[in-house]
Amino acid sequence: MSDIMTPMNSMKKYPIISLEVFPPKSENAELELIKELETLKRFEPEAVSVTYGAGGSNKDSSIGLIKKLQSELGFNVMPHFTCICSSKEYIDNYLKEILDLNIRDILALRGDEPQDIEVCYKDFVHANELVEYLKSKSDLNISVAGYPEGHYAAENLQKDLENLKRKVDSGANSVYTQMFFENHHFFEFLERTKQIGIDVPIIPGILPIVSIAGLLKMSELCKVEVPKGLMKKLETYQDDPKSILEIGVDFATEQVESLINSKVKNLHFYTLNKAYSIQKILNGVKFYQSL
Ligand code: FAD
Repeated sequence: MSDIMTPMNSMKKYPIISLEVFPPKSENAELELIKELETLKRFEPEAVSVTYGAGGSNKDSSIGLIKKLQSELGFNVMPHFTCICSSKEYIDNYLKEILDLNIRDILALRGDEPQDIEVCYKDFVHANELVEYLKSKSDLNISVAGYPEGHYAAENLQKDLENLKRKVDSGANSVYTQMFFENHHFFEFLERTKQIGIDVPIIPGILPIVSIAGLLKMSELCKVEVPKGLMKKLETYQDDPKSILEIGVDFATEQVESLINSKVKNLHFYTLNKAYSIQKILNGVKFYQSL
């Protein structure tokens, strides 16, 4: 482990982190987000990824935020790029906007079918088609989504894995995973990806829990397992939001330490646009204590 973890041995800092944010709905909320992210700058995130509504539903706010993160905070921004219901022409135009912003990295996704859209084009049905198309049109570094516990709509884990391989074979350079709360799901996923011949970096997605309602909604939506012991603990403090936040921090810190101890070098944090939990987690992780 020491070869990758000891800062003295290496110019590179591990773990390398990326932060996922979503475009806020108001100018005030955007200012707040910029302030929050400013406090995470010292952890030198490799990228800040910006979510994107399926069908381009929040395109203007995404682009606006990307520009601010680049110009005001100097971050390397990795826009998410969805394709469901989008026409080829739309994808071409969005690609041009992204390239005009000197973006190097994107996360290519299918997205979930938007409810409020009049016309749903079928030019791109799955993310592998988007990866292939964007690779043919640019030299962007393209990442894709992976699901340690399986995508909610997948027939089974094996089929889902084969579909992930399709994305990598189409040119994806790395995989960012959906959140998980049991590290064994991630380690088993790593094993299965290796067996099927996926040899690009797989970056675990960590979601620090901030509320019980949010956790239940997300675990139901994405079909991820929540450990019973964790749920029980959260329920004990259900009327105490501060304690819930701290339980979330402690749980994610342990998760992160176990990943780092297993030589995981990169971590992707679902920030929910807040810095507090991420700060506490990274301050609690051994390597960062000296920063
Ligand atoms: P795909 O790879 O197309 O997979 C979708 C389903 O189809 C899976 O069940 C898969 O097994 C199956 N499949 C894949 N390829 C094929 C094929 N060729 N033939 C048959 N079946 C196939 N959503 C957003 O709207 N905006 C975001 O910004 C966003 N960011 C995300 C970030 C991360 C890190 C993750 C993990 C997810 C994110 N999502 C986002 C959610 C994502 O869009 C949904 O999970 C969506 O349902 C699937 O997207 P995908 O790119 O994985 O799709």
